[in-house]
Amino acid sequence: MTSDQLVAAPETALPTLRGAVAGLPSYVPGRRSAGADIAALASNESHYEPLPAATAAVAEAAGRMNRYPDMAAVELRERIARHLRVTAEEVAVGPGSVGVLQQIITGLCDAGDEVVFAWRSFEAYPILVELAGARPVRVPLDDAEGHDLDAMAAAVTGRTKVILLCTPNNPTGVPISHDRLEAFLQSVRSDVLVVIDEAYVEYADAGSGPDSLALYRRYPNVCILRTFSKAYGLAGLRVGYAIATAAIAEGLRRTALPFAVSALAQKAAIASLDAGEEMAARVSLVKQERIRMAAELEAQGWKLQPTQGNFLWVRADAPLLALLVDAFNAAGILVRAYQGDGVRITVADPVSNNRVLRLLADYASLTTS
Ligand SMILES: *Cc1c(COP(=O)(O)O)cnc(C)c1O
Repeated sequence: MTSDQLVAAPETALPTLRGAVAGLPSYVPGRRSAGADIAALASNESHYEPLPAATAAVAEAAGRMNRYPDMAAVELRERIARHLRVTAEEVAVGPGSVGVLQQIITGLCDAGDEVVFAWRSFEAYPILVELAGARPVRVPLDDAEGHDLDAMAAAVTGRTKVILLCTPNNPTGVPISHDRLEAFLQSVRSDVLVVIDEAYVEYADAGSGPDSLALYRRYPNVCILRTFSKAYGLAGLRVGYAIATAAIAEGLRRTALPFAVSALAQKAAIASLDAGEEMAARVSLVKQERIRMAAELEAQGWKLQPTQGNFLWVRADAPLLALLVDAFNAAGILVRAYQGDGVRITVADPVSNNRVLRLLADYASLTTS
């Protein structure tokens, strides 16, 4: 076939993806567990079953699945508002906080606009930015594996529309201190939306990270992002939310896929907030385990940054990482490996955690960082 024929016979051409989509990095999902002796420590899920009140709320709502959910999620937004002492107008919900983040980026960025974020940070950031046709601007973490806020402020240009801050940072676990974040907000243009992604905030020690609500009240260009996927144990239901000024939150609701948050998810999220003390008790057990594991790993010879999430971050150069990946695979422990950087391990029940500690003991002598 000649090229003339190709042009003349478009019916032989196949559909193609937009360039931005073809060039997207793939989100690498945490691998699924299959089998009783597999420890699923790759996705920072809660190892607990959902709170009983959440399971009951889902069972109760299941009989009405023939109906669409409340598109405005009024009851849930009011419950979140009461929880954080804001108004329901300042709350936007979405299918996971990743869903809300997609609404934020598509709602604020035109093609070619820039979104600044730290790297390494959450894998979904560059994907959502490129999907929107915006430009990801990655700013390397500092030597202590936290956000380099001076460099991030310097990376802001006239095209910057959004800055994404992740505290505590996934995958390194390092938080951003309140004072440093406030100084950053003072230095950043007030028309740039600063998103504080607090997916792990429930696991953070009081005072380790920012008082994001106080910052939001002082700086109207702050947007707080939270989720029911991690400490609340509802990863499978898909519900998260943003706190932002009424004008921004209303815009986010307009960009949402209609009915994206199911009635089951809305009911379960409300029940989970009502069971906050039970959630907190579970979280405190995970935090105790985090402290125990970090101490044990340091005694083994690993050098860890203090982590504030429900996960540990073990730095490893390429040769060590390859050994660790093989060892974790052979042991039936699912963890998240980041080429060239290290491995992220979810803190779970003591039995699984002890398996991790025993495995890592054999490799501590090879660590170089
Ligand atoms: C897990 C995670 C989320 C939450 O994702 P959902 O869509 O709410 O399940 C958001 N941000 C970060 C940094 C995360 O690690």
